[in-house]
Amino acid sequence: MGSCLLCNQEIPQKLTFSALFLLKTPENLLCEKCQSTFEKIPEQHCPRCYKSDVSGLCTDCKNWEKLGIFVNHRAIFRYNAAMKAYFARYKFLGDYRLGQVFAPYFAKLAGNAVLVPLPLSPESLKERGFNQVSAFLEQTKFQELLTKSTSPRQSSLDRHARLASKNTFSIKPEVHLPPKILLIDDIYTTGRTLQHAVETLKTASVTEISTFSLCR
Ligand SMILES: [Zn+2]
Ligand SMILES: [Zn+2]
Repeated sequence: MGSCLLCNQEIPQKLTFSALFLLKTPENLLCEKCQSTFEKIPEQHCPRCYKSDVSGLCTDCKNWEKLGIFVNHRAIFRYNAAMKAYFARYKFLGDYRLGQVFAPYFAKLAGNAVLVPLPLSPESLKERGFNQVSAFLEQTKFQELLTKSTSPRQSSLDRHARLASKNTFSIKPEVHLPPKILLIDDIYTTGRTLQHAVETLKTASVTEISTFSLCR
């Protein structure tokens, strides 16, 4: 009925529930081969940030702890070569439809915490045309409570510069802050960006904040 969003191969139609109701699921947006290139984070991961293949706390989380920060993060996929290629198309080529591939994973996050996507700076938003994190949340409820001012692009900075970068998040004026927030990002690299957003919300008296990214 359709072709794979990544490789254009025809996807054989299966009489599944979702096919019958034309729901968008990873199964009818991508062919099996492309789906199989994405790797879930293995059982063995850092309990705080989901870094793969470490037993006990990873060095990143130990360093955060020295700064008094207890990372409370979850993720689903490894940021492997297939994911990098996917994000290059989704974000940098601006293929909005690709957000639908992973949207079902975000829909499962809805719980008692309010989902808050990390914002883009006005420049990035203008350039890309959409917030790729909010687009993942299309099938679920979320609130955009934060704004981001202009800063050097994270992707143009090396790891050191990223960790030292300034907090550019602020809370939108006149929003009502819920007591529990789940902050959402696409990729967790150093955790610095998410921690900046956590700090911003904590100083505004949000008490329970955890974080989530599709990839780690
Ligand atoms: Zn494919
Ligand atoms: Zn960790």
